[in-house]
Amino acid sequence: MTITTTAQRHDWTLDEINALFALPFNDLLFQAQQVHRAHFDANAVQISTLLSIKTGACPEDCKYCPQSGHYNTQLEKEKLLEVEKVVEQAKAAKEAGASRFCMGAAWRSPRDKDLVLVEEMVRQVKALGLETCMTLGMVDSDQASRLATAGLDYYNHNLDTSPDYYGEIITTRTFSDRLDTLATVRDAGMKVCSGGILGMGEDAQDRSALLQQLAKLSPHPESVPINMLVKVPGTPLENVEDLDPIEFIRAIAVARIMMPQSHVRLSAGREQMSESTQALAFLAGANSIFYGDTLLTTGNPQADIDRALFAKLGLHPERRETCEDDATHAQRLAQQAEQHARAERVAELAVDASV
Ligand code: SF4
Repeated sequence: MTITTTAQRHDWTLDEINALFALPFNDLLFQAQQVHRAHFDANAVQISTLLSIKTGACPEDCKYCPQSGHYNTQLEKEKLLEVEKVVEQAKAAKEAGASRFCMGAAWRSPRDKDLVLVEEMVRQVKALGLETCMTLGMVDSDQASRLATAGLDYYNHNLDTSPDYYGEIITTRTFSDRLDTLATVRDAGMKVCSGGILGMGEDAQDRSALLQQLAKLSPHPESVPINMLVKVPGTPLENVEDLDPIEFIRAIAVARIMMPQSHVRLSAGREQMSESTQALAFLAGANSIFYGDTLLTTGNPQADIDRALFAKLGLHPERRETCEDDATHAQRLAQQAEQHARAERVAELAVDASV
């Protein structure tokens, strides 16, 4: 099966998706690279930094999550951070090379008094010149429109797993609740960040069905985080069987082919991955990472290790693109050409940058 079109498709059948997964590994990665190169600078990786702005005691029962109040994971709980502290962290992230600052709160959905503070965080972080992303749980249309008005660029809301497997992982909300929030966010004019977690005991069919649901979203999510489960002691999934890394890479490649214009983010679980697995993920079309020492509550490869890996692979941080007129478009193309020519040097400079 060879994919010849790179347009957005929303009608992928499970048979088609399974056929991609079943391709010889080299053929799958070759196709994924072709699609990737048709849309992106193959050596540019978008960098986001993630901050937990409210940690733990979440009423939801997501079986993978140390922040759920249903499980005892020894996680230190934190109330909503002060706006100034969030802005301080955002400044540090920007200096470290992040183009997007993601803020996550462990809520089922935000309360109105919290939303006022969250709106202020968005305004101040955006004023630093960073893209903003939030993950706050379910939002209604009024909340979504307030966030959009405050300047929120992206809303993260993962589908997590397939519709069939969803009830095995979460019982306090439904798959269709998830889709409703995503539709609400889109209607409010924000970009969508939505992906899933692999290695939660799902089968191959569930992985295909998850990608099918993500690709059904119209337009496709601009960001598609593909996470490998981080098994946290105390959560119900702490002893689940490991997913073969090659299966994980296949999922990245299939996501790249199915959602050719989306940034596919190699997300949680990177700390547990070898450099070779990460390199394969980039080859398969992953072009976004979280950067920094921690994700919301689990570890992430330390920034200097990431910089060394970027240098080794000749990768460089993707420049932020905003609404652009012809002049800035031309300028951006010139900058990209220059970046290509200096890719190695840029990576070296990234290694030396103080983070
Ligand atoms: S994943 Fe989000 S909603 Fe689920 S328990 Fe963790 S913080 Fe709560």
